[in-house]
Amino acid sequence: MTNSMFPLGAPGFATHPIERAAHLRDDVDKLIALEERTDARAYVVHRDSLLIRRNGGRPTAALTLQEARGFGANPGTVFLGLRDGTPLFGMGIAATAAEALIGRPDVELGNLRAAITEGLLPVEELSAIATAKSLVSWHQRHGYCPNCGQRSAMVSGGWRRDCAACKTQHFPRTDPVVIMLVSDGERCLLGRQAQFPAGMWSCLAGFVEVAETIEEAVRREVAEEAGVTCTDVAYYKAQPWPYPSSLMIGCTARATSTAITVDRNELEDARWFDRTEAALMLERAHPDGLLGPHPVAIAHHLVAHWLNQGRLR
Ligand SMILES: [Zn+2]
Repeated sequence: MTNSMFPLGAPGFATHPIERAAHLRDDVDKLIALEERTDARAYVVHRDSLLIRRNGGRPTAALTLQEARGFGANPGTVFLGLRDGTPLFGMGIAATAAEALIGRPDVELGNLRAAITEGLLPVEELSAIATAKSLVSWHQRHGYCPNCGQRSAMVSGGWRRDCAACKTQHFPRTDPVVIMLVSDGERCLLGRQAQFPAGMWSCLAGFVEVAETIEEAVRREVAEEAGVTCTDVAYYKAQPWPYPSSLMIGCTARATSTAITVDRNELEDARWFDRTEAALMLERAHPDGLLGPHPVAIAHHLVAHWLNQGRLR
């Protein structure tokens, strides 16, 4: 079920938080001194990919700042925080510099999801990598003030953008998403999106809308996507999901109806799975080749948690 990298209740990006050291963000002299330290490391982000050095030893995404700049990473470094005292930074890279790296034997731009599922990146680094990915992407998409349209500038170690023209401050956003394990007691409700790999099923999920509570969002999404009503919504655990900047809020809920009406705009299909079938899917041993979500994702842990609860009864 869960694997050694992501034991039960510990999905990717949700463990090993860095020390954010927010008190250092506005101290420009200290930030420069941290950047100049030889033990400082940077994660270089390009869209959904991460720069991974491959020359000798195991592949690593934690580059020295000198290396990162040598590969063409942009100035405009964001300060992520400290990991065991080591200063960590995030950097972007221009499309032309990224293209110039194609075919080099010593470095590659590796798709982040693939690098994680292939086990290339240590689980201890995933929280810092998520922070780099979300912050760097936010700056790339928010160069202009949404209030007045003028160019804004990165400040506070990359944790804010200020507009000199209209004096507003802008903060990186996190988008809340509910993801839920709905059960009728003996079965759980899973759905399939058209873009999922063949045979894969996962928990239903959706963005929390403005002025909506988590409980309301869970009940609304389940009703909209599968036509099922539910109650007893309870929080399980959350997971940062840096594509580009979501917080997956894992919940459980009890179904009060069982007939399914699938919203085909949202899902390819939805159906109930009993415990035996769900367990085989997580173990990748289902006779029809059906699969559950990967252990990096909180959906996997929601299903595993539900199976464990069933065993305890
Ligand atoms: Zn402005």
